[in-house]
Amino acid sequence: KFSKDFGQHILKNPGIAEQIVQKSFLKPTDTVLEVGPGTGNLTVKILEHAKKVIAVEMDPRMAAEVTKRVQGKPEQRRLEVLLGDVIKTTLPPFDVCISNTPYQISSPLVFKLLSMPNPPRTCVLMFQREFALRLTARPGDALYCRLSVNAQFWAKCTHIMKVGKNNFRPPPQVESSVVRIEPKIGSEKPNISFVEWDGLLRVCFNRRNKTLRASWLGNKEVLSMIEKNYRTWCATNDIPIDDTIAEDDNEDEDMDENAPPSAGDEGQDWVGGGGGSMDVDDDDDDTPSFFKESKAAGSDVPKTKSKYKKTKVALLVKEKVRKVLEDVTQLADQRSGKCDENDFLRLLFAFNEEGIHFS
Ligand code: SAM
Repeated sequence: KFSKDFGQHILKNPGIAEQIVQKSFLKPTDTVLEVGPGTGNLTVKILEHAKKVIAVEMDPRMAAEVTKRVQGKPEQRRLEVLLGDVIKTTLPPFDVCISNTPYQISSPLVFKLLSMPNPPRTCVLMFQREFALRLTARPGDALYCRLSVNAQFWAKCTHIMKVGKNNFRPPPQVESSVVRIEPKIGSEKPNISFVEWDGLLRVCFNRRNKTLRASWLGNKEVLSMIEKNYRTWCATNDIPIDDTIAEDDNEDEDMDENAPPSAGDEGQDWVGGGGGSMDVDDDDDDTPSFFKESKAAGSDVPKTKSKYKKTKVALLVKEKVRKVLEDVTQLADQRSGKCDENDFLRLLFAFNEEGIHFS
């Protein structure tokens, strides 16, 4: 009996398993991480081409199945099965990752793979079609989102094939696609903090279809988080803070900071909308979150609104944000959905220049 909670959709078409392995360009010396081996249909094919497979499986019944499949065969000593949640497991070193991914962990899995200090050479991963299209979307595309920018910043992402739902047992509700993710290495790898880059993008995409001005200046939660981070930065750099009350602040009360996100706006997850599929879980709890921290920070800063409006440092921070958006980068009227990697990089450098950081 298959478990929906574990996203168990077994790949029953051996041709697809074969192609996934081929598209991974395995070397005989490779150690492969397989996420969720299930009954082992992909595992046995990978074992034909690689030195070793480390398979992380959460369901003990499946872990037993895949172990049984190679029992007594020469492959047995080249397969290591780790029982547990791949997201929470400290992974041993590996060269390539292959996965018919349980769709509910798509986002944290990509995040985990890309943020590794020594990421794998290649990942060939099956995802729900919409997630795959988001991974590879370009600026201006309807599905372009934080996931697209993040993934393509750290890796080359290529859509390699579509896989219909009837290739699985039981068939999922949605179509699937296989994507190859090749993390950038050496001089190609951006010399930027993973968490800081994601922190910046979280704010930019909190309202994908609104202007960056609205995302940054029209959201008091964002401003209060920036202020908190700015205070930390000043403390670390011995820069005095002016915490006195500003005399008269009748600033832009008309900003729409309390407006609900509009349709198509990015949620808290890399996945975004999700298209109503039962396989998508928008909760991304294992991803470091600027926003989640910002909510937690609310308890340290009880009167965010009045504090923000009245202290001089709060006004200074707001002015810094305005300056970055309007004067330095001139991106205030742009929408994140149209900005490219270079625009986001310019923003990050300009904020950092003002002592504003996101981690
Ligand atoms: N690889 C097999 C195949 O292609 O036939 C099974 C793929 S099935 C879509 C996903 C597998 O991942 C299931 O065996 C499920 O038990 C396992 N799984 C689900 N969540 C997991 C997690 N967080 N960590 C590791 N394995 C997980």
